[in-house]
Formats: sequence, C-alpha cells, structure tokens
Amino acid sequence: MNVLDEELKEFQQRLEGILKEFRESGRVEVYGNLRIMVTSFDRIACLKGNTIYINVKARMYPEFVLRYIIAHELAHTLVKKHTWRFWKIVGIIYSEYEKGKEELLKMVW
Ligand SMILES: [Zn+2]
Repeated sequence: MNVLDEELKEFQQRLEGILKEFRESGRVEVYGNLRIMVTSFDRIACLKGNTIYINVKARMYPEFVLRYIIAHELAHTLVKKHTWRFWKIVGIIYSEYEKGKEELLKMVW
C-alpha cells in the first residue's frame, strides 16, 4: 500500500465516521445501507443509489465543510431536490451547515 492509498483510506474512514455519527444521532431516520466511496469525478459529491460519492479533492477541506457535504448527501436520501424541506432536513442533521455551505461556495477547485 503506497502513501496515497493510505491517505485515501484514512479520508474514507473519516467520512464514514461523520456519516455514522449523523445516523446514530437519531435526528433523522435513514433506512438501509449507505456507503461512502471516494472517487475522482467532476463534482464535489453526489448520491447514487445507496452510495455517497465524494471527490478525492475534498480531503483537503476543513472538517466543518466535510460535515456539511455529508449532511447534504444524507438529506438527499430523503428529499431529492433542493426544496425548503430539503434544507430543513440538512439543518436538522447538521445545525451549522450554512457555515460549511458558504465556505464550499468560496472554494475554487
Ligand atoms: Zn444536492
């Protein structure tokens, strides 16, 4: 295993930890398996089926931004579009999400 593999594995575990924490908080009920995959693509993150894909570049992001990204994708398991209800759910999962959202918008990548 080379250094990059280890770094990616560690990043994936960090993300899984955040997801686990949100799910176990009991603030939202999300059923079924949900997994995270770190990948390289043209977006920051997306949900497809039961997999949350996170861009490998996000490993440089601060913790509060990662928490926002996970809360956002977790909310998409309940609401597909960015409606007021969607953002309400994001806020229930992670109350300080707006700070992460703003920071993410500022980042150029
Ligand atoms: Zn979204």
